[in-house]
Amino acid sequence: MEVETTFKYPAIKNYIAGQFSEPASSSTLDVFSPLTGAVISTVPLSGMTELDQAVKAAEAAFPAWSAMPIKERVQIFYRYKTLLERDMKALADLVREENGKTYDEARAEVEKAIELTEFACSMPQLIQGEFLEVSRGVEARAERKPLGVVASIAPFNFPNMVPHWTIPNAIVLGNTMILKPSEQVPLSAVKIGELLKEAGLPDGVLNIVNGDKGIVEAICDHPDIKAVSFVGSTRIAKVVYIRASANLKRCVALGGAKNHLMVLPDAHPDMTASNVAASMSGCAGQRCMAGSTMVGVGAVDHIVAKLVEEARKITVGQNLGSVISREAKERIEQHINEAEAAGAKVLLDGRGVVVPGHEDGYYVGATVIDYVTPGMRIAQEEVFGPVLAIMRTNTLDEALAIENANPYGNAAAVFTQSGSNARYVMDNANAGMIGVNIGVPVPREPFSFGGWNESKFGACDITGKSSIEFWTQLKKTTTKWNPESRTNWMS
Ligand code: NAD
Repeated sequence: MEVETTFKYPAIKNYIAGQFSEPASSSTLDVFSPLTGAVISTVPLSGMTELDQAVKAAEAAFPAWSAMPIKERVQIFYRYKTLLERDMKALADLVREENGKTYDEARAEVEKAIELTEFACSMPQLIQGEFLEVSRGVEARAERKPLGVVASIAPFNFPNMVPHWTIPNAIVLGNTMILKPSEQVPLSAVKIGELLKEAGLPDGVLNIVNGDKGIVEAICDHPDIKAVSFVGSTRIAKVVYIRASANLKRCVALGGAKNHLMVLPDAHPDMTASNVAASMSGCAGQRCMAGSTMVGVGAVDHIVAKLVEEARKITVGQNLGSVISREAKERIEQHINEAEAAGAKVLLDGRGVVVPGHEDGYYVGATVIDYVTPGMRIAQEEVFGPVLAIMRTNTLDEALAIENANPYGNAAAVFTQSGSNARYVMDNANAGMIGVNIGVPVPREPFSFGGWNESKFGACDITGKSSIEFWTQLKKTTTKWNPESRTNWMS
C-alpha cells in the first residue's frame, strides 16, 4: 500500500500559461530545508514535453505583450513592486526556509529584488531609440525590439534575487520568459509567479518549469527559445554557454568565483576587519561575491587579530545561517582539513558545529585560516562556505600576481587609506567588479553585474544598462516620404 506523505509545502508544480500544472513526468526530487535537514516539499523533474508546453504558452503571449507600449508594460511592474513590499516577510521566510539564510539576509535579498524591479520600471527612460536625417528627405531611426521567448536558469544561492536579475528587465523589454529555478530552492519562484499574476501580468508572459540537468539541456536545445541566461557554477556555465551557442542562441552564462581581498598595512583596522569578516561569512559564504581569500601585504598582523575577533562574534543559528546541503558541509570541512594538513594555521575553526534544536541542519561555523599558500587547493577552488583563507605577501605586486593568476574574475577588493595604492589595484586587478574598502562590491542599479574570465561567458552583463543590449535587438528603419527630395546614391 502506498503511504501518502505530506510535507510543510505542497508539491511544486510547473507554472504554464498562468496555471500551476502537474508535469507529464512523475519523477521528483525531495526539497530539504537546510536549517533542519527536513524534507519540506518535492520538485518535479520536467523534460522537453513540459518545456515545449511552456514555450508554446510564451510564444502565444508574445505578440500581444510585445505590441503593448512599454509605458503600459511597466505599470504591471510598478504594481508588482508594491506586492513585493506587501509580502516582504512571507518572501523572506521562504528564502530562509529553503536556502538556510538568516532572516536579515533573506530580507536583504528581497529588498534587492525590489531595487531590480524599480530599475526595470525606469526602462522607458533608458531605451529611447535614435533618429537622424541621414540624407535630404531621408530619415533613419534605430529602435530596440524584444527577442521573443527567452529563458533564465537560476542557482540555489539567491532563490529570490537571481530570478529578479532577469525577469523584470527581460519582460519589461517585451520578451516572454521561461524561468528554471534551482531544484534545491524551488519555493520562492512559485510566489514570484503568483505575485506577478496578481500584479496583472498576462498569462504565458512568465512560465516556470522545474527540474535539473534534463530541463537545462532541453532549454539549450529548444529551437524556439531565442536567448538563454544562466547563473551557477563555472563547470555548468561552460556547458550551457557552449550548448546554447551551438544551437545559435544568444547566451550569457555567469559562473563561480574566487575573490581576493588585498589588505595593506595602512588599512583602517576596524573597518577592514568587519568588512572582511562580513564578506567571507555573509550568506554562509555562499555568494559569488564572497571574499573567500584575503591577501595580507606586509605587516598586517594587527588587522588579522581584529578580524579573528570579529569572526568570533559570528554565531551559527544566530547571525550565520546554514549551508545548502549535507554534501556542501562535507565539501567545506574537507577543504579546511586539507589546508590544515598542508601546513596552514586554523585561527578560528567552524568544523563540527551544532545548533541546539537543529542537530540535523547543515551548519559550518565561521573559519579563518592563515598562512595558506597559492598552491593549496583551498587557495584555488571556490569553497562556497564561511571560510577565509589568508595568504601573505611582501608587496602589492605579489598580491596582484596571485589575484591575476586565478582563473575566475568576478570581484577583487583592496583595503587601504592610500589613494595611489587603491588606484593601482583598480587598474591592475583582473576582475569585473572592484571594491575599494568594500568587501562585497556589488554594483547597484543602474550599473551592471558581471565578472570577467571564467566568472562569465558571453558579451553582456546580466543586469543594469548592459542587460538591455542582451535582451533586445536593434531594428534600423530608413524612411523617405517626400518624392521631390533630391536623389543621391542611397535613394
Ligand atoms: P549549479 O551550476 O550546480 O546549478 C545552477 C543551475 O544549473 C541549476 O538550475 C541546476 O539545476 C543546473 N544544473 C546543475 N547541474 C547541471 C548539469 N549537469 N547540466 C545542466 N544544468 C545543470 O550552481 P549552484 O550550486 O546552484 O550555485 C552555486 C554556484 O553559482 C557557485 O559556483 C556560485 O559562484 C555561482 N553563482 C555565480 C553568480 C555570478 O553572478 N557569477 C551568482 C550566483 C551564483
